[in-house]
Amino acid sequence: MTQENHHKVVIIGSGPAGLTAALYAGRANLVPIVFEGAQPGGQLTITTEVENYPGFPSGLMGPEMMELFRKQAQRFGAECFFKVVEEVDFSKRPFKVVADGETHWGETVIVATGASAKLLGIASESDYMGYGVSACATCDGFFFKNQHVAVVGGGDTAMEEATYLTKHAARVTVIHRRSELRASKIMQERARKNSKIDFMWDSAVEEVLGVSENGHRKLTSVRVRNLKTNKVVDNKFDGLFLAIGHQPNTKIFEGKLEMDSVGYLKTKPGSTATNIPGVFAAGDVADATYRQAVTAAGTGCMAAIDAERFLAHHETP
Ligand code: NAP
Repeated sequence: MTQENHHKVVIIGSGPAGLTAALYAGRANLVPIVFEGAQPGGQLTITTEVENYPGFPSGLMGPEMMELFRKQAQRFGAECFFKVVEEVDFSKRPFKVVADGETHWGETVIVATGASAKLLGIASESDYMGYGVSACATCDGFFFKNQHVAVVGGGDTAMEEATYLTKHAARVTVIHRRSELRASKIMQERARKNSKIDFMWDSAVEEVLGVSENGHRKLTSVRVRNLKTNKVVDNKFDGLFLAIGHQPNTKIFEGKLEMDSVGYLKTKPGSTATNIPGVFAAGDVADATYRQAVTAAGTGCMAAIDAERFLAHHETP
């Protein structure tokens, strides 16, 4: 262990939680190091306009917002690296964190690895990923100009993606497994009022079908089962967007940190402390309920304060 790779606070993840933790730890003179992960800036970097973050009455684009978060953390000494953590050892302090093959040591660790878009789990969806199937309308909507695309899901993400896609596509069909949407009223109304959006209720995607053109796969239709009548129909679509929720990014913490059956990290009530003293969790990785940028930022702040207090009570070399 050298001076350079021994840190008071190591932050894993760079969404609103990780970068807010970095801002607070930086202002506490703890010189935090942030490993930004596979998606620097987190989920907001693949979203469109963020309208519900307080302080921005006109809204702002997700990537721009995360750039501001990063700059603010760096202003107070946070060091951000575009590296992915592949291994941790929390069995003793200082904790070992390996990022892109490089070993670092943290007197405390804040886990803010967030969550990723869930997939349906059918083989053909993976076969056509990037060839008509996408989990990010902002990233790929542009490729479906004047075409007909489907969005799977009935939550806020599905409504947001469907509404966004009408900027490009001629028609958007929301395929939902129930006849009632889970999305908030405002998002539902926006989608329902949009003349380019229609709904396919009580329906489940069973297969993604396509052809091979010049050595490339191309999605041409989606096999959908009506769950009430059991009728199966192949519907012509040019694209399929998955918007069925998220999975916490906790694979590397399996067997190391306590988590629930889905994989969300467990924290002590009223704090960000995990079952390992000195390891804290913030943001969507430990929040199956709210999952908002503002709540993630709030728990990021809490985690930095919890880490600062922990360090004050535990001697560091
Ligand atoms: P969500 O609320 O969990 O909704 C997921 C949707 O996908 C549900 O309608 C669910 O159906 C459906 N679904 C789940 N698994 C499925 C499967 N295997 N096959 C078919 N359908 C499936 O997730 P979300 O929409 O991503 O939203 C997550 C959180 O982020 C929410 O708290 C939401 O309010 C928030 N959010 C906010 C905004 C905003 O305010 N701008 C935007 C996006 C997200 P059921 O309804 O039948 O369970």
